[in-house]
Amino acid sequence: MTRIVIIGGGPGGYEAALVAAQLGAEVTVVDRDGLGGSAVLTDCVPSKTLIATAEVMTTFDSSYEELGIIVADDTPPIEGSARVVGVDLGKVNRRVKRLAIAQSHDITQSVTRAGVTVLRGKGRLGAGGQAADGSREVIVDGADGSTETLRADAVLIATGVHPRELPDAQPDGERILNWTQVYELEELPRELIVVGSGVTGAEFAGAYQALGSKVTLVSSRDRVLPGEDPDAAEVLEEVFRRRGMNVMSRSRAESAKRIGDRVEVTLADGTAIEGTHCLMAVGSIPNTAGLGLEEAGVKLNDWGQIQVDRVSRTSAPGVYAAGDCTGVFMLASVAAMQGRIAMYHVLGDAVQPLNLKTVASNVFTDPEIATVGYTATDVSCGKMDAVEVKLPLRGNPRAKMQGIRDGFVKLFARPGTGIVVGGVVVAPRASELIHSISLAVDNNLTVEQVAGAFTVYPSLSGSTAEAARQLHIRKREDSDS
Ligand SMILES: Cc1cc2nc3c(=O)[nH]c(=O)nc-3n(C[C@H](O)[C@H](O)[C@H](O)COP(=O)(O)OP(=O)(O)OC[C@H]3O[C@@H](n4cnc5c(N)ncnc54)[C@H](O)[C@@H]3O)c2cc1C
Repeated sequence: MTRIVIIGGGPGGYEAALVAAQLGAEVTVVDRDGLGGSAVLTDCVPSKTLIATAEVMTTFDSSYEELGIIVADDTPPIEGSARVVGVDLGKVNRRVKRLAIAQSHDITQSVTRAGVTVLRGKGRLGAGGQAADGSREVIVDGADGSTETLRADAVLIATGVHPRELPDAQPDGERILNWTQVYELEELPRELIVVGSGVTGAEFAGAYQALGSKVTLVSSRDRVLPGEDPDAAEVLEEVFRRRGMNVMSRSRAESAKRIGDRVEVTLADGTAIEGTHCLMAVGSIPNTAGLGLEEAGVKLNDWGQIQVDRVSRTSAPGVYAAGDCTGVFMLASVAAMQGRIAMYHVLGDAVQPLNLKTVASNVFTDPEIATVGYTATDVSCGKMDAVEVKLPLRGNPRAKMQGIRDGFVKLFARPGTGIVVGGVVVAPRASELIHSISLAVDNNLTVEQVAGAFTVYPSLSGSTAEAARQLHIRKREDSDS
């Protein structure tokens, strides 16, 4: 029986464990904090649960008047705000933590039921390297103070990342916070400064603004979400500003310090901004130190991420890596896929190397931004020859009925064949709407095939079919000319 040891029990680790156990391996998962990893305990699940409350607030706030809803008692629950609904953040956060722990528990149960041994503690590779029989040593420093040595035919490292900190902006867990600490708040921050306008910063800035905080978003770049589709980022920034967020572009935060019950953030140009709380969202650092990786011959890049190939192999025989610690694509779904691929490879099952061009991702702001396949940047820099059509949602009948004004559907297709190679949806629940475009990209469907499938009338997905129809017309015009 092949012995597999997995260090790290997030999506990269536990999904791999399930697959390996199903394929008949003897599997041990070593995890420091609890199965589900940061994805379940501090990052993905908690943030999306918080955002679920924010989403209800925004939907109500932005449309109740237009949709003719009467609110009986319109005394604003938050002093000085024009809003008629408010949140009990303590209650919201208790629900967030309850759901996260319950999900971690469910994962532990299903992994254990599959026959996997779960050890609580810190794992690292043993100094001995590979033994004559090809096996490796993993040392486990148990949560109870014990030390155990395991032997494995293959080891998977899936240790994730932790929040990056600026030397002069150390979180204190009360007023200066990182994203894992916000769920301890009992009261809504009155004035929140979010430092960092990547996906994490934008999601939290949007969520807290919807919950009722006065938000300042400090972005070192020209616009929010520098890694996303530029048109989508523009829509979001405009929505943020319209709702009253102070978006500070080209502003690099250098320090954050607490002054009594307030926080002062100083920018590189010397400007000081004040708030009651500050959330630092300035990226992450891979959890790869102290794992004995270099000694075992595992190559890291300049950022400390583990270098892997498309079947998750590292440079050391018998050592695989998956998830955020590889920096390949920081998503739970990609971590899980890398972990499964590693196990298929080790255990001799049919294996398809990782294909990043079909990954669907979503920014959980309001509106959401969902993306799949080749991007506007790929097209503009010549990596992919494609034509695009962008249809604003305000022309969509369902959007009009629902009072949705912001957003669009964009499709990219190859000019000659009309094969759909990418798409972007900016809309409420874009995360659900992107799937039809994902199917098209994954299966090389043409714009004619996408346009030919029925959509419900009225529906937002009607805009996807309409964009495909317009690309078909464009294709005909191009071939006629
Ligand atoms: C705020 C936020 C929101 C996000 N939202 C989404 C989202 O909506 N959708 C999405 O797809 N992705 C989201 N992500 C990204 C997602 O959380 C990560 O891509 C995912 O967690 C990666 O999984 P992983 O298995 O690599 O690592 P993790 O989930 O980080 O798990 C790693 C585990 O390894 C453990 N560990 C570390 N070192 C050791 C050691 N030496 N020994 C034993 N155990 C160890 C850790 O304790 C942890 O339990 C979000 C990230 C953030 C920060």
